[in-house]
Amino acid sequence: MILLDGLATSQQIKQEIAVEVQHLKAQGHRPPHLAAVLVGENGASLTYVNAKVKACEEVGFQSTLVRRDGDISESDLLELVKELNSNPDIDGYIIQLPLPTHINEHNVLLAIDPIKDVDGFHPENVGRMALGLPCYLPATPAGIIELLKRYNVPTVGKHCVVIGRSHIVGLPMSILLQRNSYPGNCTVTITHSKTTNLNELCRQADIIVAALGKPEFLKADMVKEGAVVIDVGITRMADPSKKSGFRLAGDVDFAGVSGKCSFITPVPGGVGPMTIVSLLMNTLEARKRQI
Ligand code: NAP
Repeated sequence: MILLDGLATSQQIKQEIAVEVQHLKAQGHRPPHLAAVLVGENGASLTYVNAKVKACEEVGFQSTLVRRDGDISESDLLELVKELNSNPDIDGYIIQLPLPTHINEHNVLLAIDPIKDVDGFHPENVGRMALGLPCYLPATPAGIIELLKRYNVPTVGKHCVVIGRSHIVGLPMSILLQRNSYPGNCTVTITHSKTTNLNELCRQADIIVAALGKPEFLKADMVKEGAVVIDVGITRMADPSKKSGFRLAGDVDFAGVSGKCSFITPVPGGVGPMTIVSLLMNTLEARKRQI
């Protein structure tokens, strides 16, 4: 079994990005600038946003954290989006999800200028991804693709089962894995909570991407020998032995499943760090597009 080490891979990619930033600066350009908008006080969101800001610092990007109270009106948030769209000093920005329930997420995502949409959530970028045109790929699926590529994981002709069909993970993952490229050329089955024969499908899978948000859902008896298992799940589980009071659990029963796998990602240290590094890659791309 080979561990797909997202942490080590992300560090390698960060070094590569830092070199590119130095090149940009040597040519007289300013470094890439990412803004992150955080609405409200969601603890997990704050952790994710802080990790993104810290990653920017590590590679020499500028970053700006824009915080707004949880009771901000939708129109005020849309006004902020407008300002970010027209600010020439910001190359790309993200609106950390989820947003408070009184705000229509769709309206906000639609208002983002696709050129600055480094999360790749705007319908224009999603459409371009589906058509195989240049675009910003959503960070988590892009990070998984990069990890598969860097470990030369065989994908051509493989049957991949994606568990979950969310717009940010499962659905784009299924699109990317079926593309006529490497990594890709899989035969993809996308599954969800109404799928009736999930265990059976998983047992047939050469590659399983578990992205449903149910801790340790994927058990050894659902995985065939030699399968590749990508664990996207991150759930905070209460753990009084930890200083933070919680531990992170993936969607895969790692202890049971890993022995059967040819490749597997750990949680933490697998898909999570690759997601952040993909956002950096998109922001670097956004900067280059402005030059
Ligand atoms: P989501 O929006 O809640 O979507 C979950 C998907 O899983 C839905 O499509 C749902 O089906 C499906 N599902 C739920 N129970 C299922 C079951 N028993 N069998 C089959 N499918 C089932 O979640 P998400 O945003 O995609 O995130 C999924 C997990 O990944 C979460 O733990 C999240 O924290 C984590 N995540 C990690 C990263 C990272 O960087 N590592 C990034 C993003 C998300 P329906 O559509 O029928 O409801």
